[in-house]
Amino acid sequence: MPCAVAGANEVFDRGNEESLRCTLSLHIIEDEHGQPTHGLCTLVGIRHDDGNDSNRDYLATHDPVSDLPRIHVLQKNLAVELAQAVHGCYRLLVCYIDVDRFGVINETYGFDFGDRLIRHIADRLARQTGGRDLVCRLSGDEFVLAVVDRDSEQDQWELARHLLDVIGEPVDEGKLELRLTASLGVSCFPDTATSVQELLLQASVAARTAKQEGGGDSIHVFTQEQRDLLDQRLEIGEHLLGAVVRDELELHYQPVIDAAKRQIIGMEALVRWRHPKLGLVMPDRFIGLAEDFGMIADIGRWVLHRACMQARQWLDQGVGDFTMAVNVSGLQMRGMQLIEDVNRALDRSRLPARMLELEFAEDVIMTNVEHVASVMRELRKIGVKLAMDDFGIGQSSLGHLQRLPVNQLKIDRSFVAAVPEDVSAARISRAVIGLAHEFGFTVVAEGVEKPVQLAFLERNGCEYVQGNFFSKPVSADEMLSMLRHPALRSREEIGDDQGGSILLVDDEQNVLRALARLLRRDGYRIYTASNFKDAFEVLGTQQIHVVVSDHRMPDGKGTEFLGRVKETHPHTVRMILSGYADLGVVTEAINGGAVYRFLTKPWKDDDLRKTLHEAMRMARRDPVDSVAR
Ligand code: C2E
Ligand code: MG
Ligand code: MG
Repeated sequence: MPCAVAGANEVFDRGNEESLRCTLSLHIIEDEHGQPTHGLCTLVGIRHDDGNDSNRDYLATHDPVSDLPRIHVLQKNLAVELAQAVHGCYRLLVCYIDVDRFGVINETYGFDFGDRLIRHIADRLARQTGGRDLVCRLSGDEFVLAVVDRDSEQDQWELARHLLDVIGEPVDEGKLELRLTASLGVSCFPDTATSVQELLLQASVAARTAKQEGGGDSIHVFTQEQRDLLDQRLEIGEHLLGAVVRDELELHYQPVIDAAKRQIIGMEALVRWRHPKLGLVMPDRFIGLAEDFGMIADIGRWVLHRACMQARQWLDQGVGDFTMAVNVSGLQMRGMQLIEDVNRALDRSRLPARMLELEFAEDVIMTNVEHVASVMRELRKIGVKLAMDDFGIGQSSLGHLQRLPVNQLKIDRSFVAAVPEDVSAARISRAVIGLAHEFGFTVVAEGVEKPVQLAFLERNGCEYVQGNFFSKPVSADEMLSMLRHPALRSREEIGDDQGGSILLVDDEQNVLRALARLLRRDGYRIYTASNFKDAFEVLGTQQIHVVVSDHRMPDGKGTEFLGRVKETHPHTVRMILSGYADLGVVTEAINGGAVYRFLTKPWKDDDLRKTLHEAMRMARRDPVDSVAR
């Protein structure tokens, strides 16, 4: 016998006294043979039915806009349902619904309109569960809805899609017809959750995943893998509480290099956690947790203290001037505690303030610019330097930054990583460097891994670089030996060679072999690629001076490929060598600067060698200016 859920919003008459509105749920509890043994009544949300929503009891249990129960009421109702689901061995599904772009709707059409929409959504959702007691409005545009799946047959995706359809039905509001979308997360007892708390948490995590990965109008069903991750987070979080006291944190240091002088000018301190079971845990896995668990101030203080003491020790060991950069979490910017922490770390270590640099993530600016600016001004008074970390991925603009006393920008490593393959990332990096200079900031590029990235950054005037190409983060001892020999490898050592390098791109192997044989004799270093992808791989890893490409290739036109090479490797000299070409296209490519010469197949050896000799001279004379020839 199915479990009955009796009506919502019944109106009872209490004689002459007053009317009450209440939600009554009746649950029939069955024994293992399916025979009803108990009835369970839940009465929620009593209020005077006099049209006055200010009734305290009612407001305590209901959201007046949607007329849905509040979360604590839903939790109680869910607990009852869960107890029965355990008993009856059936499933309970919880859907977390986050309506997309509701803020914009509110701002555009006004809050009254927004409230009416909320009411529409609430009514529709309530209809899906046959009453309001398993639906709740959490805040603003977020709803939770639970479905009792007695036959254990309800497909979670189907249910979610159905709910999205229900929300997406047009809302007719006067002259307006709106279609709403939502991001929806689903959790399930007993698949991943065993308690009400878990059901709600997992559904909300799933909704966040849906929003982040689907960008709205999307669904995510909470998975066992996510559960494992959440459990791990919780376990790690609990253990992290004592990490500072147990002395489990350590700092590694990554050198920062003056690109022009090829010299180490400082380092960034990066925290690691030596976990007794997990080994060395990287900050990306625990800094966020430390923020959530309220431990970031302690960890931040420890890092500051340790970094300053270490820097002092290196000074005492006789190394020259350098800057020690320390990362600061946005949460450390709340209040004025950071100023005291910095003062204390400098006092205790006797490190000159000018040797300390604090790195802030870009998002700290967005939280409270005025406060952040005042903290930063105080820090500058102390004499420390300030840098904006991971610039380019957040929401701030250089305009925002100009209001802050920041000295330096660190371009996020995702932009550097995309050089040279991604033309638009290369353009962004170039633009950021140019603009940063106009605003008076110096620039550090993070995540430099390849010579070609270094060459690109250098050409575009980036003063400082940091990345695995020079050194991964290392221990204090290794950093000390680097500081003792701060001069680095020269350009030649990094990949340049005497004769110059040529990249030959052709899908015919015999052409590649013949060209390579011919040109090697002239002392060039020869690289070959039979498609554009491989060609970019070579360009990404080697210092190439001249690129010679076939025009008709299986993966595109040679002129288009050279156009992209021009953007990412403007210092190269680029030529087409082809038996076929659309003359108009080639002329356009030559006029646009992507192609220096057009050579025809079959070639004459001596003519080809002469042209390459000229091209090489041009490429090596002044790498920066060889762009538009
Ligand atoms: P970040 O401040 O942007 O630090 C640079 C990160 O990039 C470091 O990761 C570094 O190891 C990595 N990296 C450097 N060069 C390369 C490269 O060539 N290739 C690649 N793939 N990665 C490179 P790490 O040490 O894992 O730190 C990650 C983030 O954790 C840091 O990013 C920073 O935001 C945060 N963090 C680290 N230490 C602290 C700390 O003491 N306090 C706070 N609040 N955050 C910290
Ligand atoms: Mg940093
Ligand atoms: Mg960074």
